[in-house]
Amino acid sequence: MRRFQLALPRNIDECVKFLAERGPETKVIAGGTDLLPQMKNGLLKPAAVVDLSGVADLRTLRRQDGSGLRVGASVTAREIERDAYVRSAYPALAESGALVGSVQIRNLATVGGNLCNAAPSADMAPPLLALEAEAVVAGPRGRRRVSLSDFFTGVRRTVLAPDELLVELIVPALGPRSGGQYLRHTPRRELDIAVVGVASQITMSDGVCAKARIALAAVAPTPIRATAAEQALEGRPLTAEQIGRAATLAVEAARPISDQRGSADFRRHLVAVLTRRTLTTALERAAR
Ligand SMILES: Cc1cc2nc3c(=O)[nH]c(=O)nc-3n(C[C@H](O)[C@H](O)[C@H](O)COP(=O)(O)OP(=O)(O)OC[C@H]3O[C@@H](n4cnc5c(N)ncnc54)[C@H](O)[C@@H]3O)c2cc1C
Repeated sequence: MRRFQLALPRNIDECVKFLAERGPETKVIAGGTDLLPQMKNGLLKPAAVVDLSGVADLRTLRRQDGSGLRVGASVTAREIERDAYVRSAYPALAESGALVGSVQIRNLATVGGNLCNAAPSADMAPPLLALEAEAVVAGPRGRRRVSLSDFFTGVRRTVLAPDELLVELIVPALGPRSGGQYLRHTPRRELDIAVVGVASQITMSDGVCAKARIALAAVAPTPIRATAAEQALEGRPLTAEQIGRAATLAVEAARPISDQRGSADFRRHLVAVLTRRTLTTALERAAR
């Protein structure tokens, strides 16, 4: 591994200052579960690394009364998985945290690292997309908010400039009669990445679907929303037939590749199955 300078900032301003001074050869490290393997195998050779572990402001997971949830970029998958409020109000997000790696990995892996690494298969991306989360980004020009649907720009690419830092995710409050679920398919039970992941989030009103959000992982260069499937559900009762139609439309949104973990056809099949299952569970949860 190339030798690198290590910065240990205590707050967000110090991080941003260091990133601005040191330029594009600098990388941020949170849990290191993606970055360190990439450095060890020579994929990345940063001249400097900014360690976020001393920045307490990035570690807060806050419930905002009436206006949702704020999740600091350095909140770990394990914290998300175990948080009682996230589990009850945003079960799809808790489920995605619980699926990342093993307990040891989840104790290190952060939500910010999962999103900024921008793997098409990132497990925490689909529920956050379906929940219409916004990313708060800090840089030398101040802070900006980016809808998560605009955050990913390609495989391992995001809208973040080299001198910018993801600070937190703002997850809007959900109305009554809302429900969601995240499911993925992996050949193995643990320590495997999603062949396909699907998050569905719905809100019901007077027996019809007032809002539907469906997000897919590992079927395109970035995590994506299946907007035609969402629109097909809105304003209609969620019958098995409507759910089946949405699953077909979700397959049309997918642009999967074939690789050693699954063929494009298998991935399309999984999108249909997982969309149907997550919508069915979301509907059950919305009725609670
Ligand atoms: C054995 C193993 C199993 C895994 N299983 C899964 C799995 O099941 N599902 C899954 O989705 N992932 C999995 N991963 C990948 C990884 O654990 C997750 O993506 C994790 O959430 C990354 O978080 P981190 O804090 O470790 O990121 P890091 O490695 O610290 O950083 C990842 C990237 O994000 C950047 N970054 C981190 N924080 C910020 C920030 N605040 N602002 C800007 N850039 C930032 C870093 O510069 C780096 O480019 C696995 C990894 C391993 C090693």
